[in-house]
Amino acid sequence: MQESAAQSPHFLDAHTHVQFSGFAADRDEVIRRALDADVRMVNVGTQKDTSRAAVALAEQYPDAGVYAAIGLHPIHTSRSFHDADELGGGEETKAFTSRGEEFDTDYYRALALNPATVAIGECGLDYFHFNDDEPREVQVKRQKDAFAAQIALSKDVKKPLMIHCRDAFAELIAMLRPHAHELPPGIVHFFTGTPDDARVLLDLGFSFTFGGVLTFPPRKGKTQGDYDEVIKLIPINRLLSETDAPYVAPAAFRGKRNEPAYVVHAVARLAELKSMTPDEMKAQIWRNGKRIFGI
Ligand SMILES: [Zn+2]
Repeated sequence: MQESAAQSPHFLDAHTHVQFSGFAADRDEVIRRALDADVRMVNVGTQKDTSRAAVALAEQYPDAGVYAAIGLHPIHTSRSFHDADELGGGEETKAFTSRGEEFDTDYYRALALNPATVAIGECGLDYFHFNDDEPREVQVKRQKDAFAAQIALSKDVKKPLMIHCRDAFAELIAMLRPHAHELPPGIVHFFTGTPDDARVLLDLGFSFTFGGVLTFPPRKGKTQGDYDEVIKLIPINRLLSETDAPYVAPAAFRGKRNEPAYVVHAVARLAELKSMTPDEMKAQIWRNGKRIFGI
């Protein structure tokens, strides 16, 4: 997977989920469309099955620029909403979402060591999607235990964290801070924190990936998009592009299934916000991705 510096840059979808069930019918065509559009991708796992599938998919496309991230999403540490586009509609996966998963270090460590794996996650804290079955403290503890184990795994295998965080930035930062000097520089995906949270995470070495939401028009009564201010403060060498497919399609495809080929829309908007040309932004993001993921 080594590419010489002389080779031209590619688009990078740094956070996507083509291994999910929502792509079961046409997965290879979706990947082919992305590769034809010069898009390289990191398929991100959310629990055991989707992590293993992310690695298997990368192995099907050797040297094509299809990589994997493996980990346990915070919402899957307890009972979670059953999303058929993620896991499929079968009884087995319904049973999974009703119980959740405890982080199995041996299982994930084996996947993490696979050369196709470029990051650990998505992992982190999500204080938005609690269920009503158990006290909040119990669910918080499960999330924190799983995240702590994945921080340790990132240090152990020297692959960066791919972080998901909602409504929990203070506690996320408190967990990361003591480890920041030993962690490979990681990524916060679909960042929704404040500019101050972003500054702290930048100080801790993190980069940020943004997707289709950047292309949505400003909300009623606003003159700029929700993420414009924060993107302006992030240095260009800390920015990446993503789709989070099958979710959050860019404005041009709003309400439809998203796919990696659409990452060009996020790149174009990032370029505008940073007063660069789309080609310059594409090249910058590719350099950033190479550095962070070691690809
Ligand atoms: Zn995701």
